[in-house]
Amino acid sequence: MTRVYIQAGLRRVVYKRAGGKCEYCLLQEDDTSFTHHYEHVIPLRHGGATTANNLALACLECNLAKGTDLTTFDPLDGNITRLFSPRTDQWDEHFELKNAMIEGKTAIGRATVYFLRFNDPLRMIQRQALIRIGRYP
Ligand SMILES: [Zn+2]
Repeated sequence: MTRVYIQAGLRRVVYKRAGGKCEYCLLQEDDTSFTHHYEHVIPLRHGGATTANNLALACLECNLAKGTDLTTFDPLDGNITRLFSPRTDQWDEHFELKNAMIEGKTAIGRATVYFLRFNDPLRMIQRQALIRIGRYP
């Protein structure tokens, strides 16, 4: 993973736009042990730029799972599908929260839920606890 310096002003823009939430799984930074990452939606190795319109706030788990990938398979039919882009896609259009489980409503949603491991058991337990105390989503 390439480490890139992102200027404080740009980090503030990205953080504020996201409201402190991971733009993939909606986890608030305050509810994790690790600070969120400034993630390149289109990774540098694919020609993405370090600009506000290519950066997203992402929790550690989402960012590490996504890495430099842009596509994966739709678990429903096996078709190659691009991952969700917080910069061009609407969360509610692709995902639905059912209790603590995030379900994909579209091929992009299903592929992203699978690839970013939204519903790993520990993440769901954490989400369930946060829902119970009114801190998620
Ligand atoms: Zn996340």
